[in-house]
Order: sequence, then C-alpha cells, then structure tokens
Amino acid sequence: MRRLCSAVLMALFVLSGCGEGGSHNSHLLLITLDTQRADFLGSYGHPETVSPHLDSLAQRSLFFEKAYATAPFTGPSHASILTSQHQSTHGVIYNGHRARNLTIGESSVTLAEHLNQSGFNTMAVVSGGPLDARFGFGRGFEGFNLVPQMGYLDSGGDPAQVTRRAGNWLLDWKHTGKQERFFLWVHYFVPHLPFLNRPDVRDSLGIEFDQTVDEESAATLPVAQVRQAYRAEVFEMDRFIGQLVARLEQLELADDTIIAVVGDHGEYLQEHGWTNHHGLFDEVLHVPMFIHWRDLRASERRPGTVSTIDLAPTLLDLLEVASLATAEGKSQRREAAPAPVFAEWRDFRLLNQEAPRPGEFQVMVRAGETKLIRDMLFPEASQCFDLSTDPAEARNLFGPNDPLTAELGALLDDHIKNSLPHGLAGIDDIQIDSKSLEMLRSLGYVH
Ligand SMILES: [Zn+2]
Repeated sequence: MRRLCSAVLMALFVLSGCGEGGSHNSHLLLITLDTQRADFLGSYGHPETVSPHLDSLAQRSLFFEKAYATAPFTGPSHASILTSQHQSTHGVIYNGHRARNLTIGESSVTLAEHLNQSGFNTMAVVSGGPLDARFGFGRGFEGFNLVPQMGYLDSGGDPAQVTRRAGNWLLDWKHTGKQERFFLWVHYFVPHLPFLNRPDVRDSLGIEFDQTVDEESAATLPVAQVRQAYRAEVFEMDRFIGQLVARLEQLELADDTIIAVVGDHGEYLQEHGWTNHHGLFDEVLHVPMFIHWRDLRASERRPGTVSTIDLAPTLLDLLEVASLATAEGKSQRREAAPAPVFAEWRDFRLLNQEAPRPGEFQVMVRAGETKLIRDMLFPEASQCFDLSTDPAEARNLFGPNDPLTAELGALLDDHIKNSLPHGLAGIDDIQIDSKSLEMLRSLGYVH
C-alpha cells in the first residue's frame, strides 16, 4: 500500500511538472539578452506592455526570480554563462574588442564544446563585437555567425538579420534530416545604448517621445523619457524573439526544444546618478533567467538567489547530459540550499596605468537580501546594504564595526581565497605600489 501511494504520488509529481521535465533527446536554444534588466520584463513585474513573447515563454518555465550576473559587461558575463565560471577563472575580465584581446582560458570548457563532444550540432548567431569568436566565444560551435554592427558606436547587429540567420539555420538543420540534437545560441543586442527612435514601435506603445537616446542624453533627459525609450527597445527585441519561437513552431521543433533565456547584465536608467552599465549595483546585476520547455505545465518559480553560472549546469541536468567538470555553478533543476553569489568589476581605465580611483576595481557578494561591494584598492570606499529595507542601495552600512560588513566580508574572503583557482585576476593591469600589492598578496587575494 505504501509503495502504491509512492507510485501514485510520483506520477502526480511528474504530471504536474514539478522539478521534472527535460529529456535525453531535447534540443537547446539559448537566447542571451544584452543589457536586459530583470525589472523591465512583464514576467518580472513591469507594469506596462513590454515583453509579451518572453512572458509567454516564462509562463511555463523554471523561473529564477533573483538571478545575478557575474559582471556588468558583455564579454565577461557571457564567458561566465558559457563556462559556468567566474571572471577570474575564465579570464575574460574586460570586453576583448576594447582591451588586451582576452580570450576564454584554455583550462575552461564551454557549454558548446561540452555539448558538441556529447553529439550535439552546435551553432551561434551573435550580434556584438565583444562576443567575437577570436575571444573564445566560438569554441565548440560548428558554425559561428557574428552579425555586423549597424553603424552606431557600441551598437549591435540588426536583430532582423540575427533572427533570419538563426531561423535559416534551423530550416537547414531540419531539412538535412539530421538525427543529432542541436544547440543553437542566439544573442540579441537591441536594448543596449543608443536607444533608437523607432517611430512604429514607440507609436504602438503610445510613447510620444521621438529622440534617439545616446549615452550623453541618457544622463540629461527626463528620467521618464529615458525609461520609455529603453522600454521600447525591449519591446522591439521581444518581437524578434517571438518570430524566432514561431519559426521553431513552424518547423515542428518547439515540442522538443528547451529554450533558455538569460540577460548578460542590466542598465542604469539614472539610478545612483548613472547611465550605461558598470559597477555592481543591482540595476546592472539582477537579470532575467528562465528555462522553458513544453512538458512543464506551469511556471515553477524559484525565489532564492542564484547566479548565471548556475544556468549551464542546470541545462545539462535537464538535457540529461553529463555535468561539466570545470563548472563553478550548480544545477538548480531542483531547489537548492541558499548560497551566496559573486560578481567582479574592473574599469577599462585601469588598463591605462594611471593612478586608480575608488570604484574601479570591486568585488561583490550577495547573500539573501544582504550585499557587500568591496573596493579592492580603496577599502574605505566599500559599501554594504540590507536590501530587505533598502532595495535602492541608498543607505551604506559599511563600517569596521558593522556586523553585516564582517559577516559578508568573511564570505567574500573565502570565495576569493578558496574558490578562485588563480585568485583575483587583473592586478597586473593596475599601477599599484609594491606595499599595496604585498597587502593584497598577504590577504590571499592574489596568488
Ligand atoms: Zn552586454
């Protein structure tokens, strides 16, 4: 009787989709959203129309309410998503097209390499210079397609081309009658500055503002206009994602494809007096992350803090492929015990070998609703927040006698000394006096 009850319960559990799903024969579509704040998607609570297609996917997803990027930059963050490692481990600590031509380290294994070795056909369509194959992002992909920039500084490739090329690859894959599974990575750059004036998009959303917003005007225009311009960009990207998913459906691949959606970092829309993305406040680190598949009957929401380095292990678990030996993240397929998450930030200015300034080299730990941003070169400029009472990160609690500072500091020390095989990367970039370097060494931050 007891065994029968267990069997019935297990059947109900599987039918409801709770904690189960995925398959040994599913394909994988990974969609990375550049510059996408979590709070500017409907599924994360945005009150206006902004992301109907992504929201539709999110309705039947393993849905992470509090996912944190490892970096506020495209190259470093994507390298973490693909390797399941922190920046100091995979080595891409700046965007390679602007600095040092950094590539993903030889000892790191990417999701594409791992899946390709496991028999998947692999293809990438990306739309930003920081993700060029020469920085290691092409590793493991049989095909790699970088859609060229549209001509604006720091702009990405045309999202229509990205969608078309990804769709055409799916069509070819289907028509060749391949028996393998596929892994397709598609990267959209649309909500990155500049926020283009697309009259049809803004009209459809009822936005009466007709300027393109660039980095300069993002800081000076009324904040309501900047937010609406950003919203229109997200809506535009969402439209193309809708087209890509429709293509999967037309080709009758949707039922057999796991669709993972993740943001690489967010964007300041004048919070803290800032624009663009840098530093380690929540506006640039809290990103959307969810995994959709058809077997799931309803959204399975996970309220706990997770990192984007947890995505690859979770996907491998769902795909029923062996885990990635070099991963620093953990599968979140089933609810895991709460664990702290970490991020790193280095300003490009450090490469100029000028005297460093506060805020240019920081590391972050977040544990539950508490957070420490440690300034590695100017410790007195560190910041500590209790987000349960201060979600805007406006009241800095940092202090030598503050118990929260001490508690989070111990977690950060442990992470840097024991979890990062090479310590913190990037010290060589900094014009730093020998005494300070010795101090960082003695603390175990540099190996
Ligand atoms: Zn980015």
